[in-house]
Amino acid sequence: MQTFDFDLLVIGGGSGGVRAARMAAGRGAKAALVEASPALGGTCVNVGCIPKKLYSYAAHFSEAFEHSHGFGWEGTAPTLNWPLLKANRAREITRLNGVYAAILHNAGVHCIAGFAQLQDPHRVSVNGSTYSARHILLATGGKPHVPAMEGREHVLSSNEIFDVAPFPKRLLIVGAGYIACEFASIFTGLGARVTQLDRGSQVLRGFDEDVRRFIGQEMQKAGVLMRHGVEVAHIDKAADGLHIHLKDGSSLQADAVLYATGRVPNVQGLGLEAAGIAQGKQGAIVVNAQYQTSQPSVYAVGDVTARVQLTPVALGEAMVVVDQLFGPAAGKPPRAMSYDFIPTAVFTHPNIGTVGYTEEAAREKFAAITIYRTDFKPLMHTLSGSGERTLMKLIVETATDRVVGLHMVGAEAGEIVQGFAVAMKAGATKAVFDATIGIHPTAAEEFVTMREPVAPAKPA
Ligand code: FAD
Ligand code: NDP
Repeated sequence: MQTFDFDLLVIGGGSGGVRAARMAAGRGAKAALVEASPALGGTCVNVGCIPKKLYSYAAHFSEAFEHSHGFGWEGTAPTLNWPLLKANRAREITRLNGVYAAILHNAGVHCIAGFAQLQDPHRVSVNGSTYSARHILLATGGKPHVPAMEGREHVLSSNEIFDVAPFPKRLLIVGAGYIACEFASIFTGLGARVTQLDRGSQVLRGFDEDVRRFIGQEMQKAGVLMRHGVEVAHIDKAADGLHIHLKDGSSLQADAVLYATGRVPNVQGLGLEAAGIAQGKQGAIVVNAQYQTSQPSVYAVGDVTARVQLTPVALGEAMVVVDQLFGPAAGKPPRAMSYDFIPTAVFTHPNIGTVGYTEEAAREKFAAITIYRTDFKPLMHTLSGSGERTLMKLIVETATDRVVGLHMVGAEAGEIVQGFAVAMKAGATKAVFDATIGIHPTAAEEFVTMREPVAPAKPA
């Protein structure tokens, strides 16, 4: 029988890779993990979810100071010490890098520092050494994609924005997806004058149309200067800042430009061709339902497969692969990964929380749906002076009464929607929502007190 250095060799020490290596070692497998960056944890820990959420917390304080006046607090708002925020963020991320290293070490994973390249479906080279493995897992994630244009060298991606210096008083953001919208809210909250350029007519394509319209309005109320239907032609650097020339002939000035125009799989130099691994659009690694690539010994999970690019999805996929290869945890059935009802939040100000079908997708999928929708001024803002409103929407499949879509734009929507996602995964009907007692006074109770459906649209 052929022998290998490792049972599992994981390439990429991000969300999916660390989880897979740690769990495989925990099941008794001889596991190794190769990471190219000196900092373990991947996108989420270093330049994604965690630093982003820390900055989002920082940004919320400015509105909290403003809102406090209506509650009797007096005095002027303090000013932001941007270098201090950056230093505190960096310290916390370094701590997390250490936690990841310790987790892997304690689990008995053999960590290899360096850039990994596949030699064939069982061999990987790193820094001139070659390692063999019975199974290889590719978890190399993704990277920002900035389109080619004159002046591209002057723009930042989400990788660099966390450390931008000095603080950009005027920030231009190109894009209208998750990252563009989150950073527009964050930098507005931190005190920048943010202009967001969307080539479409509403932000967040793919989200429910009511949510798109509503968050666009709320972001503008919060101070984001939103422009739709515009595209950048080229960018020049001058003594007074960056000059952004638009395709409509107009121009803008900014201190910094963030391009948040999507992400592409991280596959460059990985040796996929040498190992005969099939790739799809933008180089994404093609996998079957078992996360197996076109080479049966090589698996791939997470952003490198360019499907649902969320940390909990990469973690879930990694755990399924480990259960398949090394058996489930003692006394547990093997895990399965379902892509139905994946909840997600966009950490705009206010947040978006959503799970299940948009109204548009539900109309396509089901014979008949019933919509419940409310938008209201949250109790907090009766005194805060803020004009912020909250939107909640339920989509019910009429035939089964099952709640198939739940959407919220409002404070802490991410926290609120997580719990409802459990109910929806369990198949909760509208009758179950109606029979649930609310928690008063909260915004969340509105989800169990909506009684009157939205009147169906009249045929044209
Ligand atoms: P990654 O975490 O990207 O890890 C890949 C690792 O592989 C990296 O460490 C890389 O250095 C390493 N690597 C690559 N090639 C090689 C090689 N050849 N050899 C060795 N190592 C290699 N998701 C959420 O769920 N919630 C959020 O709030 C959220 N916010 C985000 C904010 C931003 C700004 C961004 C960019 C992303 C955000 N995401 C969020 C998405 C989330 O970060 C990703 O879905 C997740 O990190 C994907 O995990 P992964 O394991 O597939 O890859
Ligand atoms: P998205 O795919 O969400 O959005 C990309 C945006 O860029 C879209 O508005 C798109 O417009 C626009 N765009 C693309 N190309 C161009 C171009 N050439 N010129 C102008 N605009 C362009 O990508 P993001 O980079 O925002 O995020 C990547 C992924 O990371 C997300 O999809 C999400 O899965 C994950 N993520 C998750 C977060 C969370 O969970 N909170 C936070 C951040 C990221 P159009 O719609 O017209 O194509």
